[in-house]
Amino acid sequence: MDTRAACRIFRVLARVYPEAVGDDPACEDPFRVLVATILSAQTTDRQVESIMSELFSRYPDPASLAAADTEDLERTVRPTGYYHAKARHLVAASRALVDRFGGNVPLTMGALLSLPGVGRKTANIVLSACGRDEGIAVDTHVFRIARRIGLSGGKSPDRVEQDLLALFPRHVWGKVNGLFITHGRILCTARKPKCGECPVRRSCRYYRSL
Ligand code: SF4
Repeated sequence: MDTRAACRIFRVLARVYPEAVGDDPACEDPFRVLVATILSAQTTDRQVESIMSELFSRYPDPASLAAADTEDLERTVRPTGYYHAKARHLVAASRALVDRFGGNVPLTMGALLSLPGVGRKTANIVLSACGRDEGIAVDTHVFRIARRIGLSGGKSPDRVEQDLLALFPRHVWGKVNGLFITHGRILCTARKPKCGECPVRRSCRYYRSL
């Protein structure tokens, strides 16, 4: 697939899901985005949201999270699953923010990747929330949809990201993740994609193979 075809697909989906692409991103609190993204592994946004206000009332900033009592923190994040590892990552990342970045979340890919427990997906989500896109966050929806449509044949999220970066112009990088997540929740679902209702089916490799 070439850039023109990829952009056509982007435009069609953006018309169908205008709320997913929004206006220019407002800068969200990068620390809150970082914490929510670390917690989001293997769980739903709703589960993460359900504990965020309690978590932030106890630990409102990197300094307090870096000094968190392990048992208390694990109890708080437990509903999101994998709570031992998540609590460990939150504390380690917060310590690194305090020790190396003055308690601030650095907004470059290299610095974010230097934080414990932060991979490209998490770094991309934080950068995108602040309008500093350096890549495209490839989560489970983006990975599945990019491969189904034929935007990438990559077998790893990093490979798929490289293919998407090559196809899409830089100014839409920050919108691809949200757009594909919305499409993945509404039509291009993991188990039974609703291809008959899909506005990009004629350009979709998966649909053409049915
Ligand atoms: S045609 Fe089907 S598989 Fe292709 S993008 Fe649409 S819903 Fe997904």
